[in-house]
Amino acid sequence: KKVADRYLKREVLGEGTYGVVYKAIDTKTGQVVAIKKIRIGKQKEGVNFTALREIKLLKELKDPNIIELIDAFPHKGNLHLVFEFMETDLEAVIRDRNIFLSPADIKSYLQMTLKGLVVCHKKWVLHRDMKPNNLLIGPNGQLKLADFGLARIFGSPDRRFTHQVFARWYRAPELLFGTKQYGPAVDVWAAACIFAELLLRRPFLQGSSDIDQLGKIFAAFGTPTASQWPDMVYLPDYVEYQYVPAPPLRSLFPMASDDALDLLAKMFTYDPKNRISVQQALEHRYFSSAPLPTVPDKLPRPA
Ligand code: ADP
Repeated sequence: KKVADRYLKREVLGEGTYGVVYKAIDTKTGQVVAIKKIRIGKQKEGVNFTALREIKLLKELKDPNIIELIDAFPHKGNLHLVFEFMETDLEAVIRDRNIFLSPADIKSYLQMTLKGLVVCHKKWVLHRDMKPNNLLIGPNGQLKLADFGLARIFGSPDRRFTHQVFARWYRAPELLFGTKQYGPAVDVWAAACIFAELLLRRPFLQGSSDIDQLGKIFAAFGTPTASQWPDMVYLPDYVEYQYVPAPPLRSLFPMASDDALDLLAKMFTYDPKNRISVQQALEHRYFSSAPLPTVPDKLPRPA
């Protein structure tokens, strides 16, 4: 069955936050693609033209480390987003016990993540839903960010009814305190969680609720003080937590190099105003010191 007279539908790849994802063939180019069908049928006007216009902007975000949005169109009350097809994702790499990740491999995966992020942040597009299964990996080992800007366009999905309750683990403290004026720093925090997960080979801060998530964050880095984060007490959902001192970061990441630990600490800065930017992170000496990042096509991937 052809969609929009162009795409030949194949099997379902998975159920995502916004709807079903299909594998398909682009009959115009022969390219294998992934089509994300976003349910918007319940909305009054059927097709949300504001969303469609914003989606068109995402098409301009072209970069080797960002998944290409090939096409976007409404079809039978659903919005269809056509992306290049990707073989696997970073979550599968991290979880695969047969894969050994060297310090150079970890550096390469983090660098590609940040390179994709910097392009978006330069155009004032935030991701807001960074997690390892949104970092897709192509046939040549290139890591590409997926789902850019969707969280902002379609809103934070209600995750209580999906299997994807885990995105909380990557949420910055200002989001957990209900800030409405978040910025690119939320993506830096999430990238730090992914960096930590690459080092530990398991999700770093596994909160079971938003309150528990903050508890996990504070247990790892100490309860933020007013001098560390002056604006914290003004956030909408701010509640005072019992003071916990920070253990040495080194004790949580015994295998990390000093450079890795220094960058990690700067990405995990509490005050979003003082948190390192993606651009600054890419300029950190972690990326220029030995070992240099592994070239993408030499990176280990699931069999
Ligand atoms: P979520 O919203 O939960 O992050 P997605 O909607 O991004 O999930 O994707 C759902 C499933 O579809 C994922 O498990 C992923 O394996 C698959 N998928 C998404 N995008 C692509 C793509 N470009 N290429 C191949 N598979 C994809």
